[in-house]
Amino acid sequence: MTEIKDMQKYIYGPVPSRRLGFSLGVDLVPYKTCSFDCIYCQLGVTTNQTIERKEYVKRDNILPQVKEAISLNQKIDYITLSGSGEPALNSAIGEIILGIKKLTKIPLAVLTNGSLLYDRTVRKELLPADLVIPSLDAADLETFNLVNRPHASLNFDEIILGLKDFRHEFKGKIWLEIMLIKGINASSQEIEHFKSIISEIGFDKVQLNTVIRPPTEKSISPLTPIELEKIKNAFGENCEIIPEFKKKLQKAYPIAMENRIIELVKRRPVTLSDISDSLGIHRNEVIKYLEILKKESKIKTYNYGGRRYYEYK
Ligand code: SF4
Repeated sequence: MTEIKDMQKYIYGPVPSRRLGFSLGVDLVPYKTCSFDCIYCQLGVTTNQTIERKEYVKRDNILPQVKEAISLNQKIDYITLSGSGEPALNSAIGEIILGIKKLTKIPLAVLTNGSLLYDRTVRKELLPADLVIPSLDAADLETFNLVNRPHASLNFDEIILGLKDFRHEFKGKIWLEIMLIKGINASSQEIEHFKSIISEIGFDKVQLNTVIRPPTEKSISPLTPIELEKIKNAFGENCEIIPEFKKKLQKAYPIAMENRIIELVKRRPVTLSDISDSLGIHRNEVIKYLEILKKESKIKTYNYGGRRYYEYK
């Protein structure tokens, strides 16, 4: 019983990811421990903004859980280090990557906000990963401060330099993710700035996202599909819009959990935390279910008293 409880603490899924197929999520930091406080963050406001690296979650707690999840013979396309904040803040990330690589041949991806790549040690620790997906939501300092609300000691130019150095050192794939927000970082001037950074660094893919999940700041809005398409074309051939869930992925989705969430929202409006606490599943896993239920028009959302609620439609 204890093992199952622990499993829910650091491992979630496999969840269907729009980019990675079935992804087994590994959460390396406590809830909202992050160097940024992005206005679009789906997890809410950053409660522990820091650049201090430490072993927030112990390697020795993570690896047995990953081992057990793999042994269940579930379909897993990627093991993904991400979670409730910035995974590279965990100073054991290098050992965790190596430990997972010893356990399995399943490809390993790291989702990072890229803010710590200026640090040579962090870059070295990420080298054994197969895929690194850093985000970059601003092409200049002013927009960086506006969108990412970074920790005071972070420096935008150093972050760009860190990405550049990492590109030279890392032999795996790097997919850059850009979160585009209407009226904030998607003007034609901004896109030109992004283009020059991207062409200088050279990523394997550039993936465009927009605010489709409920963001921290309710006033921000997504780009339209036409606007996204225009920017995609401007970025050139290795750029894509992060695709919708594929049909077959949705079909294979665990319906039982989807039904349990529906039963919950039918009874009363609930928050993300309510669902996560009631069902004992990780917030990030709940987010994936909610995204699909919203797409299927089974639930709707509204804000009340500064909190976001989900209710049955
Ligand atoms: S970097 Fe990620 S976890 Fe951190 S605030 Fe931004 S979106 Fe949220």
